Amino acid sequence: MGGHHAAAGAAAWVAVASTGPYTLGWYPLDATGIVIGGMTTAGTALVCDWDHRSSTIATSLPPLSNVLAVGIENASGGHRQGTHSILGAGCFVLLAAAVAQFQLATPWGVLSVGAGLLCMFMINIAAKALKLFPPSGWLVNWIFGLVMAALVTWYAPEQWTWLPTSMLIGVVVHIVGDLITTGGVPLLWPIVIKPPRLFRRVPLLRRIWRPNGALSLPLLGRAGSRREWLLLIPVSAYAMVGMLGAAWSVLRSVI
Ligand SMILES: [Zn+2]
Repeated sequence: MGGHHAAAGAAAWVAVASTGPYTLGWYPLDATGIVIGGMTTAGTALVCDWDHRSSTIATSLPPLSNVLAVGIENASGGHRQGTHSILGAGCFVLLAAAVAQFQLATPWGVLSVGAGLLCMFMINIAAKALKLFPPSGWLVNWIFGLVMAALVTWYAPEQWTWLPTSMLIGVVVHIVGDLITTGGVPLLWPIVIKPPRLFRRVPLLRRIWRPNGALSLPLLGRAGSRREWLLLIPVSAYAMVGMLGAAWSVLRSVI
């Protein structure tokens, strides 16, 4: 469920960004950083599903998003393969770290051009998954995406590390989310070891080590189950409180 991944991503960003400075000695983020990072992480929590050409993400910013989806699909071996593995997660984080290097120092401050471009996709897919847009409104998506790109370019935190951190949080949240719903993920891809026939007959083991070689911890049952919804209510509420609180501080500092 795309919206669930997005809400969990935003909640994880709020949690890490608000405790990181004190517990891990990270640089503190101001309210703008919480809002931009939260919106971005709602999107990076969906990036793993950009691996098939007919996904909502693939069709969000045509034709660019479609071309990228075909590329990711080919590189990662199809849906729920390479992008849902430790290797895939590492690649996404490296990519975000590389993109984040594109910064321009201007008399008005540092402009995060690379982050702006990546966030054009990330924030857009998050908004789409959270159903903030009318369906198939690609023109609206493009206008929204470009406005977000401009805001991130201008207001993003100057420390480039926030972007790969957001990507890491988002991708981990996504993979864990898929792991605890029945489908499972091939964590060690491209190494996929299928269980021996004997193991496939053991009821519990069969659900954890799937016949296709994927690993699953089906704590929440099927994707979209009642348990998933029950967990999502407090998680979404937490994300909303954190994001709205930060957005309110930003607004108050502007007016
Ligand atoms: Zn997935």
